[in-house]
Amino acid sequence: MTKRTIRVTGAAHSFSPVALPEQSAMSLHFLRGLMEVDENKQTATFYAGTYLHEVGPLLEQYGFALINMGDIHEQSLAGVISTGTHGTGVTLGSFSSMVTKWGFVNGEGEYIEHVRGNDDLSNALAVSVGLLGILVTVTIKVIPLYSLEYLSERKDLYEEIKSFSQTIRENRHVEWYYFPGSETIQVKKMNMVEPKRQPALSKKIDELQVQLLENNLFSVVSKLVKLKPTLAPSVSKLSSKLISEGKRVGLSYEIFPTPRTVKFVETEYAIPLEHFEACIEEVHDAFLRRQFDVHFPIECRTTAGEQGFLSPTQGNESAFIAFHMYKGMNEEPYFQWVHSVLERYGGRPHWGKVNRYNASNIDKFYPQAQKFNEIRKTHDPHNVFLTSYFKRIFE
Ligand SMILES: Cc1cc2nc3c(=O)[nH]c(=O)nc-3n(C[C@H](O)[C@H](O)[C@H](O)COP(=O)(O)OP(=O)(O)OC[C@H]3O[C@@H](n4cnc5c(N)ncnc54)[C@H](O)[C@@H]3O)c2cc1C
Repeated sequence: MTKRTIRVTGAAHSFSPVALPEQSAMSLHFLRGLMEVDENKQTATFYAGTYLHEVGPLLEQYGFALINMGDIHEQSLAGVISTGTHGTGVTLGSFSSMVTKWGFVNGEGEYIEHVRGNDDLSNALAVSVGLLGILVTVTIKVIPLYSLEYLSERKDLYEEIKSFSQTIRENRHVEWYYFPGSETIQVKKMNMVEPKRQPALSKKIDELQVQLLENNLFSVVSKLVKLKPTLAPSVSKLSSKLISEGKRVGLSYEIFPTPRTVKFVETEYAIPLEHFEACIEEVHDAFLRRQFDVHFPIECRTTAGEQGFLSPTQGNESAFIAFHMYKGMNEEPYFQWVHSVLERYGGRPHWGKVNRYNASNIDKFYPQAQKFNEIRKTHDPHNVFLTSYFKRIFE
């Protein structure tokens, strides 16, 4: 028998090779849609290939919505669940934490439905990066339809560091954009309000503003910085001055995502929440010393802690700090430095973003990695899903 590996690709929105096929590639692009809503239990069952931008409007028909979302909506449900993709909100978990039942075909070709419980298979499935099988259906917890009031403000870095621990508890969602070397940051807050759609005109104006400032103008300055990296600090400071302040209200699925057309590479770490302030101060100091020429803002979010053998939060309330570099620029020295700093704060990389996981460090990041591997082997004894990237970690 020829040994061939299978890798399922969702929307191919990962920066790490987690979705990279070698011999056989599979897509669930034609296995999408809402199968069932249980209004009493407040759960919804989807085909796992459903894209996030389809989920909100489908749930709205039943008066429900996703508990949380990240900042884009291009990914597939299977993809975001498999990598522990998260949004922001210290009381809220990742997409993986929303799952109440997984339906998957394992490496032996068996279809298994598993209801979430406090058991090893649930902990392995929580963040499984396609290693246990092909997710076909997912049942997720949903909540009644809601809107978000979104507020964007320009703020002073040091003042916000002082009030960070309070701000994240007073608002359902808080997100920072730190502009390398600048003391002005963007603080975005979102809070739940009664369901109400964003008026079409206000939506158009917002979309235009994002397209012009955050995409078109940012694309032009990114090209300039790529040609002359020493421009990065000035561009970063200028960007912080151009932060668009304002308020808007709309259905949650209209407000969470922002179109992103400028290409970049990214690494992101979850660190225990209590280290956030010290970590961001250290990062700021490095930029004040002009250690790196980076103009791309650093994104800071929070999440609740959650179970899962491979969950980057490992049960701790966490701050997620994401570092980006414009595509085509040399991110290597910057990301190496990020890895060393963030790992000192107990950080664990997001599985879908640039990471350095391998067989010699995986047990340090994840004390139960071998337990995960045992369960993986029972569901995939012939390593059908173990591509080279994963062989370097789990073989
Ligand atoms: C512009 C941009 C913005 C992003 N924003 C965020 C954010 O806000 N928050 C965040 O946490 N992350 C974010 N990410 C990362 C992204 O959400 C994750 O990498 C996510 O996994 C991508 O989903 P996908 O559908 O593209 O999956 P892919 O990248 O295609 O696959 C991810 C993993 O899921 C597996 N997989 C896919 N389908 C199946 C299936 N049916 N069964 C089993 N395994 C499967 C793949 O094999 C792979 O291991 C962002 C990425 C980009 C490019």
